[in-house]
Amino acid sequence: MTTEMLHFTPEEIARAADLLRQGETVGMPTETVYGLACDAGNPSAVKKVFAAKGRPADNPLIVHIADIADWKPLVKEIPPLAMRLAERFWPGPLTIILPRSEAVPAITAGGLDTVGVRFPAHPAAQALIRAAGVPVAAPSGNRSGSPSPTTAAHMLADMDGRIPAILDGGSCICGVESTVILLDDAESVRVLRPGFVTPEQLQTVAAHVTVDPAVLARVEPGTVVRSPGMKYRHYAPNAQVTLVEGDQAHFLAFMASHREAGEFALCFDADEPLCKAAGIRCLPYGDTDEARAAAFFSRLRELDDAGAAHVYVRAPHTDGVGLAVFNRLLRAAGYDIVSTESSEEGEW
Ligand code: AMP
Ligand code: MG
Repeated sequence: MTTEMLHFTPEEIARAADLLRQGETVGMPTETVYGLACDAGNPSAVKKVFAAKGRPADNPLIVHIADIADWKPLVKEIPPLAMRLAERFWPGPLTIILPRSEAVPAITAGGLDTVGVRFPAHPAAQALIRAAGVPVAAPSGNRSGSPSPTTAAHMLADMDGRIPAILDGGSCICGVESTVILLDDAESVRVLRPGFVTPEQLQTVAAHVTVDPAVLARVEPGTVVRSPGMKYRHYAPNAQVTLVEGDQAHFLAFMASHREAGEFALCFDADEPLCKAAGIRCLPYGDTDEARAAAFFSRLRELDDAGAAHVYVRAPHTDGVGLAVFNRLLRAAGYDIVSTESSEEGEW
């Protein structure tokens, strides 16, 4: 199959919507990352999404809508807290999990009795969902396990020949997948996956916000630990990834002993001139949480293209949007994390 590249014009939105209605899959730009879209209510279309991605059948798909009114038929009920969150953060990068209705097939929900729903902010996603006239299931548009695509070209690199079309909507503004939450009770929100909507922002609507411990299975600073997490790599490039915690001086000292061919630093912008001066191969990925979120998946792909065998990533902090970036990098690294504050490696 040839993968057609479509553009954000009325004719090509109509073409993409026709494909969705016919039970086909289409690459869809959103403000978070590119998704692989299909008709959420059509089990055979959903099956194609799992097949194209190589996604395990127990990993649920998020269902996308383009009007809050389209949420109600998908779930058993919408508690007041969920509605308040939707009114505050939709359209936007927040996915709300609730018990699903019969309208959502079990295959879409990965066999769970719940469904995560989101109203994306990207105008091309909204236009496509509205033109299709059905709720659209869309996981990230990468092959399972790979970095999420933040451009149409990255999605094509993973999906060329596997899907009929990709709608090109430019680079994704957030660059990191949506915040996924569930409600523990009438006033409590639990963050299952951090994203651009931060726990601090959720706190402005919900009385209690907790972050699930699985989000930050991080080691305490001061210890040098290499977790054997290679069993569960996610968001990962071909290169091996190690997350390196510590301030700039410690990071540079650590990298000074990792200057072999194939070893690269994914550093902050401010580290770049110092890395270069020390003969450390590097790519910068930003100096703010938002810039790093927008850049890191793309940078991991660029490092693969540059022939990196091992990428040492300067760990972001875990406040605000930084939590989402840290969470993805930790998994990209298969939990391989080094704290340099107490490390004896290298001398600067
Ligand atoms: P992706 O679309 O590739 O970003 O993956 C969607 C992710 O959202 C899944 O891997 C889950 O972590 C989460 N998710 C979606 N729906 C549910 C649900 N019903 N219950 C729990 N987690 C969910
Ligand atoms: Mg994904």
